[in-house]
Amino acid sequence: MAIKEKMTRYDEENKIGCTLEKITLFLNPVILSEEGTVYRLEKCGNKKERDIVKRPFSITIDAEYSLIASLNPLTKKISLKKVKGPFKFSGSSAYGVSHEMEHLTGDEISGESFFEFEYELED
Ligand SMILES: [Zn+2]
Repeated sequence: MAIKEKMTRYDEENKIGCTLEKITLFLNPVILSEEGTVYRLEKCGNKKERDIVKRPFSITIDAEYSLIASLNPLTKKISLKKVKGPFKFSGSSAYGVSHEMEHLTGDEISGESFFEFEYELED
């Protein structure tokens, strides 16, 4: 499993920056704990519409082997670093981890159809 996180560094003075990408690769990841419930819309694979799914707000996982690849588009360098868990993610990263873990344990993402939504006209 691979989880990508992005972070933009911008130098206000020189008006230049770059978006760093941190990709963490996990071999045989396992979920240690989850906290909170966040309802959200997610798209998966070839499905045309998004599904309503429940994700934890934070998730802690561990893996047999983990590696971080940091890509810098400004210096064109990819630095690799072996890292040890456990790893805690929250917010967007936690949703991504939970989504990918669901693929590893089952196959399809389970959720409610987007068509469950109803329009509500505000006064
Ligand atoms: Zn998916």
